[in-house]
Amino acid sequence: MTKRKEETKSKPSAVKVKEIIFTCKYCGKNKPLSEMVVVTRFSPPLVACKACDKTAF
Ligand SMILES: [Zn+2]
Repeated sequence: MTKRKEETKSKPSAVKVKEIIFTCKYCGKNKPLSEMVVVTRFSPPLVACKACDKTAF
């Protein structure tokens, strides 16, 4: 068994833009900010992904 060292130093596919990841409060999936919408119909406003916004709200 070989232990792989965690690739912390070299990231071949370095993230170009730091994407903010949000967790959808509805489905619990982590998605980038571009996939999230703030549902202001709720108080406090609920952060949900676009898919949930279409289907659930
Ligand atoms: Zn969702």
